[in-house]
Amino acid sequence: MTKHIFVTGGVVSSLGKGLTAASVALLLQRRGYKVKLQKLDPYLNVDPGTMSPFQHGEVYVTDDGAETDLDLGHYERFTGNPCSQQSNFTTGRIYSSVISREREGGYLGKTVQVIPHITNEIKDAIYSLDGEDADIVITEIGGTVGDIESLPFLEAIRQVRQDIGHDNTMYMHITLVPYIRAAGELKTKPSQQSVGILRSIGIFPDILVCRCERSMEREHREKLALFCNVPLNLVVEEKDVAHTIYEVPLELAAQDLDVYVLERLKMHVHRLDIADWRAMVKRYIEPTQGEVTIAVVGKYIGLQDSYKSIYEALTHAGIKNNVRVNVRMVESEDIEAKGASALLDGVTGVLVPGGFGDRGIEGKIEAIRFAREEGVPFFGICLGMQCAVIEFARHVCGLSDAHSSEFSPNSPHPVIDLMDAQKEITDMGGTMRLGAYPCVLIAGTRAQALYGKTEISERHRHRYEFNNACKDELTAKGLVLSGLSPDHGLVEMVELPTHPWFVACQFHPEFQSTPLKSHPIFAGFVAAALAKREEGTAAGAKMGSSHAA
Ligand code: GLN
Repeated sequence: MTKHIFVTGGVVSSLGKGLTAASVALLLQRRGYKVKLQKLDPYLNVDPGTMSPFQHGEVYVTDDGAETDLDLGHYERFTGNPCSQQSNFTTGRIYSSVISREREGGYLGKTVQVIPHITNEIKDAIYSLDGEDADIVITEIGGTVGDIESLPFLEAIRQVRQDIGHDNTMYMHITLVPYIRAAGELKTKPSQQSVGILRSIGIFPDILVCRCERSMEREHREKLALFCNVPLNLVVEEKDVAHTIYEVPLELAAQDLDVYVLERLKMHVHRLDIADWRAMVKRYIEPTQGEVTIAVVGKYIGLQDSYKSIYEALTHAGIKNNVRVNVRMVESEDIEAKGASALLDGVTGVLVPGGFGDRGIEGKIEAIRFAREEGVPFFGICLGMQCAVIEFARHVCGLSDAHSSEFSPNSPHPVIDLMDAQKEITDMGGTMRLGAYPCVLIAGTRAQALYGKTEISERHRHRYEFNNACKDELTAKGLVLSGLSPDHGLVEMVELPTHPWFVACQFHPEFQSTPLKSHPIFAGFVAAALAKREEGTAAGAKMGSSHAA
């Protein structure tokens, strides 16, 4: 029988519920259990695919093509297990299936109501992960307890305990214990109140995970235990970590959170095997090779969450290469105003990530031109590859009006163009080329050397593609098409062999990078950045000595 852990959040949003859920999953997994994760989001969008990254952060894409919440990225990075369509449900998705069933006459004349019809649909979503390959399912409820929108979800998880019993369910409430500077004290009252809200709707938390910037004293934990009716050892502290989010599971393990969870769920407590994770964190904290600076040139730079998986994948590549990766976030519009050399000076790598819409496009193209001409390692992802192709067509092939038909529908040289299959589609949600597709790598290319194999699978999220009508013109000038769809109909990777390191891909490799297994393209890119730094240092040293002479 699959056991269920529900993670709720109290007091404020942004407590890192996703990270906590992912950390608990990792620990339970490393105690020998099969764990699956899921997020229920109370908003009305059917999925976050249509939302601006400024609203919602990055849209994370699963192998089976779901456009999902970025917390699923944490789930995959911590556990190494792929998520699926079943890993993220929103109010919009729940309601749209209930409403379409109603239209089909599926409720046999009944009045369709929040309880039981919506709550049953939510419970079906929760149970959809049950099975032999899930000893435990951890379900995170988005939003904060007390929000009107999350009530049906909370009611559904309350009913789950009625359905499957006390020993098979657990409620983990993540809450904030703020430090009030003026009083010089940590305050437990907000947590007591949010537990109060949960209790008023029939949920009695089993574990409190207290987010705090300073350590709690025993008296705080005793107070919370007493007022919230939770055993003292189940009031766990989750203090802000010093170096990296990957320390969170280690901090929770130090308090035996995973042991208490298993005991409470009446499951055997096997030995915890987490040495590799510990070693990875140590490598992150103490890199032996110093640091490199990589510019990420995008249009959603203002919000840290917009390129979440990219920043994480760079971190993983740093861990792999034993080097700290500093990211210089560059707003592509600033490049249009101030020029690439002013903003990219001193960086040892340039990454142009994915995106939509024409704002800042010319700045990205400028940044790529700078990297190509200056021999700075360049990595383009999705829109970043499309911009690299446009840049090459314009400045190497002399097609000065080359563009993507996304931005210039009448361009005489649409080097990036809409796929035929996409031309008739008018719906915005879930209609792109989404999810994992196979790709073959061409022997002798850098791409093939990076992966060390010729057949790969990577995740996509885009409408536009490299235009094969321009293939001969671009390849004649030296652009190498290094990755193709198996039927050779679609260009998935390009590179420039005459450049120290210039690689771009139509897919999103960042979604498959984990701290224990850095993605090969990211790893290669950071290694190239390190080589570039060494070259710069060597040149600097040479210049220094010639000055001395
Ligand atoms: N806007 C481009 C397209 O739809 C690129 C998308 C992306 O970078 N994810 O093809």
